[in-house]
Amino acid sequence: MAADGDVLKVERVPTPRDDYPGTLGAIEELTGRLEDGVADIPPGETRLPLDVANAPRIGIGTPGAWSLDKGVMKNCNSVWLNGRALLPDLVKRLGVRVRMANDADCFSLSEAHDGSGRGAASVFGVILGTGVGGGFVVDGRLLSGPNGLAGEWGHTPLPAPNGIRRDGDVALCRSEHVNEELLALESRLPSRQCYCGRLNCIETFLSGPGLAHTFYALWNRRLTPEKIFDPGGDDAQSLVTVELYCHMLARSLAQVINIMDPAVIVLGGGLSNVGRLYRKVTELLPRFVFSGECVTPVLAPKWGDSSGVRGAARLWVSG
Ligand SMILES: [Zn+2]
Repeated sequence: MAADGDVLKVERVPTPRDDYPGTLGAIEELTGRLEDGVADIPPGETRLPLDVANAPRIGIGTPGAWSLDKGVMKNCNSVWLNGRALLPDLVKRLGVRVRMANDADCFSLSEAHDGSGRGAASVFGVILGTGVGGGFVVDGRLLSGPNGLAGEWGHTPLPAPNGIRRDGDVALCRSEHVNEELLALESRLPSRQCYCGRLNCIETFLSGPGLAHTFYALWNRRLTPEKIFDPGGDDAQSLVTVELYCHMLARSLAQVINIMDPAVIVLGGGLSNVGRLYRKVTELLPRFVFSGECVTPVLAPKWGDSSGVRGAARLWVSG
């Protein structure tokens, strides 16, 4: 990608599953293809020694995070990357300078830089797809901390409706913000085990598989997330499941707003294509945000599926 955001070349290869050397090889193949024909990376400069300050630079969006402490990858749903020294392995293999960030962070950086969050002082980018992730960009820079976890809201517990304890379906106190019909439905959902080892993570409810799981648990029917969200559909069970999903999403985002109060929220991932989410969640947020008021816009992404890789390229211009 050029500095002005123009995409110079796009190449794709399938990720070799359960194969770390194969994954390194695939990245090497991709970078080799991208070097060909891209004017601002002369082929003769692609294998400079590592200590040369102007060696070529690449940005990579990855699942999971880089453990500063251990110097290896962690939390990857592509589990064959976990425990691997991906960053130094790539630098050694490719002879280039590499910056890596979580793919949700890359999405957020892209949308904050020249996407839907452009010009906003702070952006919370949200991934709602096979998994649930997120990233914060403040003043154009990714927020990062010692654990490499900034924005990982998907692995915090789904907030229960106000005053309702999930385990025993016991109403500790009723709140005017609770929709009784949805509360009755949600109380039928058993606890969920997340792959991270904890129970009832936001991801287990708000991911695509999580939504399908909810639908099956409530109605004993199997439907894909696309069918459940079908904009032209009139299936009553789908409509009420979408309503419940929107409540869960609004409650979860309200916690982020209470803590970070981002200027803009941009949704990404497969479920961000659902137009109804934006209107409904924006309408619901004031119910769940402290003070009962919320003006935070919830926006669709500008770059869609391209935002992850665009943000990875931006890792070299965002400091
Ligand atoms: Zn989890």
